[in-house]
Amino acid sequence: MGYKNVIFEKNSTFLVTGGAGFIGSNLCEAILAKGHKVTCLDNLSTGKKENVNLFIDNPLYTFINGDIRDLDTCIAACNGIDYILHQAAWGSVPRSIEMPLLYEEINIKGTLNMLEAAKINNVKKFVYASSSSVYGDEPALPKKEGIEGNLLSPYALTKSVNEKYAALYTKIYGLETYGLRYFNVFGKRQDPEGVYAAVIPKFIKLLLENKAPTINGDGNQSRDFTYIENVIEANLKACIAPSSAAGEAYNIAYGEREYLIDIYNGLCKALGKNITPNFGNDRKGDIKHSNADITKARIFLNYDPEWNFEKGIQYAINWYQKNL
Ligand code: NAD
Repeated sequence: MGYKNVIFEKNSTFLVTGGAGFIGSNLCEAILAKGHKVTCLDNLSTGKKENVNLFIDNPLYTFINGDIRDLDTCIAACNGIDYILHQAAWGSVPRSIEMPLLYEEINIKGTLNMLEAAKINNVKKFVYASSSSVYGDEPALPKKEGIEGNLLSPYALTKSVNEKYAALYTKIYGLETYGLRYFNVFGKRQDPEGVYAAVIPKFIKLLLENKAPTINGDGNQSRDFTYIENVIEANLKACIAPSSAAGEAYNIAYGEREYLIDIYNGLCKALGKNITPNFGNDRKGDIKHSNADITKARIFLNYDPEWNFEKGIQYAINWYQKNL
């Protein structure tokens, strides 16, 4: 269970793209804790300098302020790297509906650049962030790899194209790629600010400020909220997965689902608040329910998540209480 027992060779080197962001900075931290070298490539567009400053004095950590849209930058960053954990992308379904061209450039072209750079540098493994949004309007629950519906947003399209390119790079060039379809990740350092912020940090921040959050829709939508530690486990285990498991995408979640209204009420209780939320319209591109079948990752990546929602949310609340 977990990733404590995941061991890499002594001088292993990692590149985390998007390492100044929420998931990427947590990955950098976990790799450094294992005593390995990590390079972070990030253009600080949605990521934060403070997530770089956390590690900058560690001699095992290198920061490259660069953009994955530039192939030469990607090639240089991959030099001497064993494992790539490619997280850099622009997230948010609604933002992608507003600016599809930018998503094409960053998420599709940027990922293709990274695949090409990984191939040129002969890296051992290319592990990358995909998303549960690739399931589109498929109503069947739980979501199972191979049963995808019609895509609902430019963001989902970019992730779906990433998976197809990655599979091709495995098939044609032998680059070992592993796609991780994250389901609503939460935990420390997730940005609570702005209109595109994820729901858990946003609700916690507003409640701590005694303000009423707005719930899109009636609150009866459900998601497989996944604690960050499970995502770290998936990334590290994909790095040691067998070659036969390459060229595929895997659901990464806990495998249960929570209703938004219950989360809201639970947060109010935990924070000692009695605030009535506002209810807004349903969001375009959203689906009502989502949860993952994680059997494929269990079998092929040996993924065995140890953090359920209750345990994760307690840690997240404590972190935000201390750090906001
Ligand atoms: P984040 O915004 O916190 O991190 C993304 C990082 O990528 C940021 O630091 C940003 O500055 C960097 N970046 C963006 N464009 C870049 C570019 N052109 N060049 C270099 N760096 C660039 O987001 P996150 O939540 O940590 O997401 C990480 C990955 O996981 C993304 O690929 C996202 O699509 C995927 N994902 C996240 C979730 C979630 O719930 N957080 C769910 C599914 C998939």
